[in-house]
Amino acid sequence: QRAQTINMNAGPSPLPQDALLTAAASLLSFQGSPGMGIAEISHRSKAFADVFNEANADLRSLLEIPDNYKVLWMQGGGLTQFAATVLNLNAWYRTKHQLSAADQVEGWYAVTGSWSKKAADEATRLGVKARKVVDGKKLGGGKFRSIPPGREWDLPQLEENQRKPAFVYYCDNETVDGVEFGGQGSDTEFPFSQIDPEVPIVCDMSSNFLSRPVDVSKYGIIYAGAQKNLGPAGVTIVIVREDLLVNVDEAVQYGSAPIPSMLSYKVMADDNSLFNTPPTFAIYVCSLVLRSLLESPPLPLAASAAPLSPLSDFADKKSALLYTAIDESAGFYAGTADKGVRSRMNVTFRINGGDEDLEKDFIKQASDLGIKGVNGHRSVGGLRASIYNAVSLEGVQRLADLMRTFREKHA
Ligand code: PMP
Repeated sequence: QRAQTINMNAGPSPLPQDALLTAAASLLSFQGSPGMGIAEISHRSKAFADVFNEANADLRSLLEIPDNYKVLWMQGGGLTQFAATVLNLNAWYRTKHQLSAADQVEGWYAVTGSWSKKAADEATRLGVKARKVVDGKKLGGGKFRSIPPGREWDLPQLEENQRKPAFVYYCDNETVDGVEFGGQGSDTEFPFSQIDPEVPIVCDMSSNFLSRPVDVSKYGIIYAGAQKNLGPAGVTIVIVREDLLVNVDEAVQYGSAPIPSMLSYKVMADDNSLFNTPPTFAIYVCSLVLRSLLESPPLPLAASAAPLSPLSDFADKKSALLYTAIDESAGFYAGTADKGVRSRMNVTFRINGGDEDLEKDFIKQASDLGIKGVNGHRSVGGLRASIYNAVSLEGVQRLADLMRTFREKHA
């Protein structure tokens, strides 16, 4: 039954079968200990420390994380990071510039989809001015579908005496809208060279984490909820450059609001993410997934290539199957994102100009074939095939085949 199902949900999403089998057995008994499973051991035990250290080492080697970055395992999902990034960087910036409560701090947001919009709204709620340097919805006539080239971004030219933003924020892959920097067949990059090197760049990589190599050294903070490419919901990876860690209590004298300890990156870093009880089982499953990505990549790893390059090739290959089916359909299918920024993880499209009855019919036929979760996000409708690392090439091919037969019947 399980082998027949092709799970294309946007998150939580499928996990590698071998990791699940090991995790299932480990729930009952971990490392041969009778009657004590992985979810039942202390987070301070040697057995868990071994799991955790290995997970950290594997993540560091997969992403080639430089030594001056900390890896934090936090809770509360991506949404909590919308707040934590703002609170910590506000405290860092205020401390660095010795500001007072009356001073306004700005973060610059490239709003290219629903999640970066939500992140910008959260910054506003928390008292940091969110300046939109890209407003994708405006550009797309009310829909997120494009990312303009860097030279068209609304990046203010600052005078000598003007304050820089505390950070620049973007979302690498917009899960709802199917818009990705460096999307299928393109090299649209975030315009790093146009950002003052003193200003940390913050990136939400929740839905394309571990799907391609990343030059971590270009970032101040990268974060990602686990529940797409890494593991179960309940744990969020935060990769933060050490010089951005700040004592949030001391920052209060510079006009920063007090911050819950659980959201302080410095507190988490100082305690190696063991400030409180971490989600031990979720971390364990992540450790198994990381190991399987390292040991059995979906395509061969070339000798000189980055450890994540097979996953990048795999994502290109899978997404190309679906975008080809869209492009050769003479408009029967229409991608909701512009070519050049089409997501390799979340392929979003409409049928016959947004014919909801046909779309419902397609979703039902997919489901009958064992292809689950291809309905679009409830806020935008349409179709969305989420084809994360654990979705097989054969599974994606089955969906591409259905797209062809369905079109032949209805076009
Ligand atoms: N950012 C992105 C890109 C996402 O896809 C999601 C959730 N799908 C979130 C943030 C929010 O994450 P969470 O539900 O873990 O809070």
